[in-house]
Amino acid sequence: MGQAHSAGPVEGPAAPRYSSLRRHAWISLPLSDTTTEAANGRFLEDKVALVTGASRGIGRAVALELASRGARVACVASLVENAVDTARLCSERTEGARPYGVDVADTALVDQLVREVRKEMGGLDVLVNNAGITRDQLILRMTEDDFDRVIAVNLKGTWNFIKAAARTLMKSSGRIVNIASVVGITGNAGQANYAASKAGVLGLTRSVAKELAGRNVCVNAVAPGFIDTDMTAAIDDTTRAEIVRSIPLERIGAPQEIATATAFLAGPAGAYITGQTLVVDGGLSL
Ligand code: NAD
Repeated sequence: MGQAHSAGPVEGPAAPRYSSLRRHAWISLPLSDTTTEAANGRFLEDKVALVTGASRGIGRAVALELASRGARVACVASLVENAVDTARLCSERTEGARPYGVDVADTALVDQLVREVRKEMGGLDVLVNNAGITRDQLILRMTEDDFDRVIAVNLKGTWNFIKAAARTLMKSSGRIVNIASVVGITGNAGQANYAASKAGVLGLTRSVAKELAGRNVCVNAVAPGFIDTDMTAAIDDTTRAEIVRSIPLERIGAPQEIATATAFLAGPAGAYITGQTLVVDGGLSL
């Protein structure tokens, strides 16, 4: 513990007493240890993370990034067989990853799955709600089913996992990162259902952040812009070029860039950030 007091200014009378922060698991390390962990990059060593939509795209990149940081990752896809490959790749970075399958929109099955993860992996410290779908259509053509299903997966799916995991995360001073979208802030023609679901995720994030702050659980959202995944693969070249022209950084984002932002919020650097939306969009929403 001595190292924490080695720098001059920390020893002044107004400096916070380090020992008074001991109860907060995420910031209870001596400062030198924190620095060492950050330096070797494995700042999620001994943590269990659950990532939904981990079979491909952003979810897969997030799962691999968290595993690279030392977390044992529960890789969740709609079907367990779709999560096997991601879990294998995670295990090459940190042993102990496991594949799971569930429809995130199914409240009872999500509850059951979170119990299983807790039992089989020995706890839960980081929850990343990433699974999402689009069913784009102009409002005049959008069906009730288009609307309901997008809300059920993107918004209720996120709520389902938070609800099922909250008690455990309260015990572990855990983290929640919800993958939203800039469209939830700006809106987008043809995406009334999707934009509403993602705006809902942002409201959910801020509310749960307020509820769980007293238990030292940080809850944040990452709002990606246009990212190169299967979700955006169907967009034709002309539209794609138009989108790129509208992005100040003049390029489409990579899944890894969302994964890095997510790991930042899930790690020690995110210990004093809660209820926030980290926009990762190359300036698209400016
Ligand atoms: P993707 O289509 O490549 O992957 C989506 C993942 O979610 C898949 O693994 C899929 O199996 C899973 N999933 C879908 N429905 C599910 C369900 N009912 N139950 C369980 N799993 C389900 O998409 P992506 O681009 O990687 O998107 C990941 C997240 O990022 C989504 O929430 C999406 O809305 C968000 N996002 C993506 C972009 C982008 O440009 N790609 C932009 C902003 C936000």
